[in-house]
Formats: sequence, structure tokens, C-alpha cells
Amino acid sequence: MKKFCSKCYNTFDINIMTNIDFKNNFYVCPTCLDKIKKSTPREYTEDEIRENLLKHFWFLIEYWEELPNKTTSEKMSGLLHSVLATLDGASADIPKNR
Ligand SMILES: [Zn+2]
Repeated sequence: MKKFCSKCYNTFDINIMTNIDFKNNFYVCPTCLDKIKKSTPREYTEDEIRENLLKHFWFLIEYWEELPNKTTSEKMSGLLHSVLATLDGASADIPKNR
């Protein structure tokens, strides 16, 4: 089963036991999971924030598009909520303030 990685947005074969990001309920590929474990925290640059924001929006489209048993209206409402939550700083992928 293919899934989108919530960090790098590449597709990868899912392995539920090792690749789920429990905190955000999104999936993380093995490469990003490894990076997360090894990384030391630092601030994002402006370019990185801009790029991450755009990638995150594309990811949100895929995420809501793939959800089963939802009407188009529910998916679009969900997408809008996710976008607004991201802009409000609720997403773990986008830093609130620099
Ligand atoms: Zn990844």
C-alpha cells in the first residue's frame, strides 16, 4: 500500500508499525523517520518555510482526497479547516513564529 510521507511528500510502501507519526496521525517514510531520530533542532530559513508551506498544502489535498466515505463537500470542508489550522500555526510541520 502506497502512502504519502508527511515530511518529504514522496510516496512509499507503508509499514504501519514503524512509519506512522502518532503525534500527528500522518505517515512518515523510513528516510524521514531516520532523519527525525538523528536531527538536531534548528530554525527554518524563510525559503524553507515557504517551500514547506506549499508542499504541506499539496499534501493536505492528497490527504483529504484519499479519505474514503466522505462527500466532496466534507472533504473540501476538511481541507479548508486544515489550511486554516496550518495558517493559525496548529500544524507541527510549520513553525509558528520565527
Ligand atoms: Zn519522507
